[in-house]
Amino acid sequence: MSDPTATRPLPRWLSYEQTNGPLPERTDVLVIGGGIAGTALAFYLARGGVDVALVERGELNREASGTNAGSFHIQLAIHQLPAAGSPTADTERLLEEARLNLAAYEVWNALDEELDVPLGVHLTGGWMVAETEEQLQVLHDKRVLERQAGIETEVVTGAELRRRAPFLAPDLAGASYCPQEGHANPLIAAPAYALRAHEHGATIRTHVAVQAIERRPGGGFRVTTSAGEIDAQRIVNCAGAWAGDQARLAGLRLPVRREGLHVNVTERRARLLDPMVQHIGRRLTLKQSSDDTFIIGGGWPTPAAPPPRRYPTTWESAAGNTAVALRVIPALADVRVVRTWSGVIVFTDDLSPVVGGSTLVPGYHACVASTGFTLSPLLARRLADQLLDPTGTPPFPPAYDPDRRMTAGRTTP
Ligand SMILES: Cc1cc2nc3c(=O)[nH]c(=O)nc-3n(C[C@H](O)[C@H](O)[C@H](O)COP(=O)(O)OP(=O)(O)OC[C@H]3O[C@@H](n4cnc5c(N)ncnc54)[C@H](O)[C@@H]3O)c2cc1C
Repeated sequence: MSDPTATRPLPRWLSYEQTNGPLPERTDVLVIGGGIAGTALAFYLARGGVDVALVERGELNREASGTNAGSFHIQLAIHQLPAAGSPTADTERLLEEARLNLAAYEVWNALDEELDVPLGVHLTGGWMVAETEEQLQVLHDKRVLERQAGIETEVVTGAELRRRAPFLAPDLAGASYCPQEGHANPLIAAPAYALRAHEHGATIRTHVAVQAIERRPGGGFRVTTSAGEIDAQRIVNCAGAWAGDQARLAGLRLPVRREGLHVNVTERRARLLDPMVQHIGRRLTLKQSSDDTFIIGGGWPTPAAPPPRRYPTTWESAAGNTAVALRVIPALADVRVVRTWSGVIVFTDDLSPVVGGSTLVPGYHACVASTGFTLSPLLARRLADQLLDPTGTPPFPPAYDPDRRMTAGRTTP
């Protein structure tokens, strides 16, 4: 990774003219969605010489990929744990996801150079705190799995924790530290991928919404969009929180649901902490950004709103989220929240990503993940490898199968 403190200029992003030309009549791969998953996939495919077109119904990076908190979730986090809370209840899935998180870290670690764009990658390490002895036990249990997967987590308590993380409340039961965690700038990553995809020959079209998908008898698809029709041999659904709606157009049901999330930003304060801070039992992710504001999120809800309105933030989530932050970092007591924002996230019903090709609808693929800022560069790269060389590339684990909801219920499209 390049020196994160060095200032390098950002490139000129794709212009209106570059993203608003006519839709091609046909393409090999049609990517639906211009967030980080879709733009990353378009880049890796175009770089591999594939004829690829990406369509985005709005502007690039305006949904989850441009409204997230930018954290790299490498330790197993609260939303990945089974409902019972203990990692030991779901060892196999969690071990697989820990391996995936580590592989995602490795992609991010080199991405700045791969795209030749300063992505604001800061590998600061991350603390995950426990307030109770039960939560501390969860940290110990998940550490065993993380170590098995190659993640260098350690659990720290007492005087050692107070010495290494003096900003944390002194009466916490303990915390786990992962040196591989950090963050990047979510406003840069997807535009950078889109720019490099375009330079490798991908067609990127904004303000083009997919409205209908028809399977052609000889294979491939005829896709109706708000800008006309396009024939595609293969489709990849990268529509994030709208992936379920998109899949239904092709006769598939994905195990996904849509939720609004709330994020708070505070005024600037003297540098207090570099690492990210999370909670194993309550909804909190917190970091001090490079401009010294605190970004506080972690999964507090916002109500849904019908398009074109954006989901509203709420006082309840602002108060609940900041109360947890204060409990963990008492020095925030007099720091004011100056701004809130919302974003719409996709959650998968069984907590695993939805990625790979459908066997029920041959040629149809999906690339969807809940911690998709962390995982999408990796998942998109692996999916692109599969699309480039379907027989020579190992498939994704069956747990990630886009068909799993339908095959489990033995229904047909
Ligand atoms: C508030 C918040 C905080 C988060 N924090 C983190 C974090 O710190 N770390 C982390 O790893 N993850 C985080 N996430 C999750 C992460 O942002 C997402 O998993 C990731 O951005 C998903 O990327 P995507 O490209 O799949 O989806 P999106 O970025 O949502 O892109 C999907 C695109 O599909 C387009 N689309 C939908 N329907 C159509 C259609 N019919 N035709 C054409 N285009 C269509 C949409 O307009 C959209 O632009 C957070 C999410 C939120 C909301």
